[in-house]
Amino acid sequence: MPRSSSIPAEGKNLNAFFTVNLRGETTTQTFDEIVHPRGFLISSDYLKGALIKTTRQKISSGSHVIIDNGNFDEIGKISTDLSQPAEELKKNFLRLKKKKSIHEEDFPPELRDQITDISKSIEKEILDHFGNKKLDLSGSLAYNPSGVIGIEDITAALWLRLGLEIQYIPNGREALRKKNETVCETAVTEIGTLKKSWNGRYLTVASALDYDSAFDAGSAFASREIEHAAIGFGAFMSDDSFQDYVIINGKRIDLPSLAPMRYLRCALVVRGFWDGYNSQKKTSLKSFHFLGLGTPVMIPILALGAYSTKFQTYDATSPFKDAFQGILYTLEPAYFKRRATSIAFGLASNPTAPWSCPCKFCKDFEKQYPMDYKKGYEWYKSKKPSKVEMKDLHPGGSLFDVYPFLSEPESGSRRKMINLCRMGHNHWIYERIFEGLRDNNSNRDSFEKHVEGIVNRYLQNSKWDQAAHSVKLAFEIVKAESVNDVLKSIG
Ligand SMILES: [Zn+2]
Repeated sequence: MPRSSSIPAEGKNLNAFFTVNLRGETTTQTFDEIVHPRGFLISSDYLKGALIKTTRQKISSGSHVIIDNGNFDEIGKISTDLSQPAEELKKNFLRLKKKKSIHEEDFPPELRDQITDISKSIEKEILDHFGNKKLDLSGSLAYNPSGVIGIEDITAALWLRLGLEIQYIPNGREALRKKNETVCETAVTEIGTLKKSWNGRYLTVASALDYDSAFDAGSAFASREIEHAAIGFGAFMSDDSFQDYVIINGKRIDLPSLAPMRYLRCALVVRGFWDGYNSQKKTSLKSFHFLGLGTPVMIPILALGAYSTKFQTYDATSPFKDAFQGILYTLEPAYFKRRATSIAFGLASNPTAPWSCPCKFCKDFEKQYPMDYKKGYEWYKSKKPSKVEMKDLHPGGSLFDVYPFLSEPESGSRRKMINLCRMGHNHWIYERIFEGLRDNNSNRDSFEKHVEGIVNRYLQNSKWDQAAHSVKLAFEIVKAESVNDVLKSIG
């Protein structure tokens, strides 16, 4: 196997970039010319048909390509298998909750038994699905990619998916610590063998759900001298639970109010993982991949939390899914994901502030299907609505032909162009976000100032107070000098 010459080295300053999902739509000449992706990620299951050739071309032309051998699909399958007990557990949690977050000390014995049962079922399902099957990377390595997502344990991801926090599970922290140690042990053996014929990055996947479990994982990774790692953030970002406390160093810290865990958990895990790693090793991780992290405001915050690692990559399928559901990313007035209905309401109520994205996807779409701002304003004046509804943007709706970029045709060429242009636009926004990170990477102070500016603009413009509160806490957690400072700033 030829040694790859296209692996970008870790430099002195932070190099962070997005690895675009390698698909037909993201490998066109137009996409390349507008977005200039620096890297791609493809799941080994998708390496079929025309994508085989495209992947080879991208690798040979020097793109940083990561092949993902992760078990994301298995997580879905197992959680479907366990959906019935998980549903019953959820009902019991809801009964207990009554608008507050749930605390494990309030659990009645039956609920404790139920949790023990479901965590045992998870173990059994994992064994049934994987048994002693070893991760086979030979197919992926035949492409000679610059990175592969290596071994991972999906237990913690399943806990979260089924509504279990680590502190609910008897000896949960200890169990997860052992799982991370086993993952490291397997990874070390595999890396040793692979090194002989391949010089890309083998990204060992850590699993964690809070500060303490991430600290343990970081310590285990450093003890085994693992230099390239990844953590899945997709499950964190799709978790819609709220909590009014966090646990750090085994101590419960009450928060002033309920906070959405999706932002908070990401920051706690990053903080814990790097603190754990640095507790064992003087040098930091060489490279890190944020699996499934695509929320614009969280990218800079977590990049700051991982700042000592100078080579950071990210991937997410959300720019596609969001495009299809009418969610567009913005840089101004802040890094938001905005719904088409909310954008349409803004345009209709204020005709002097048009959709002015300078990206070529938006410009090209506008040329073919221009917005009619005047007509939108007339609609607003005559109707005096308090919001735009989805039905207004659907075929037959009042705004369907007024704001074509925000409209939702069922099929046809306009639908196709809408999906492509929104997806392209969302990726173009990512490129600007990462460009901003790379332009401010000369030292930690200026990087932190850059991120602080992004966070402040988010806080000033967010209409969801709980999200703003959680994003602010996430920023405090990653920016603090030490974990003691974290405790002071959020407690
Ligand atoms: Zn655009």
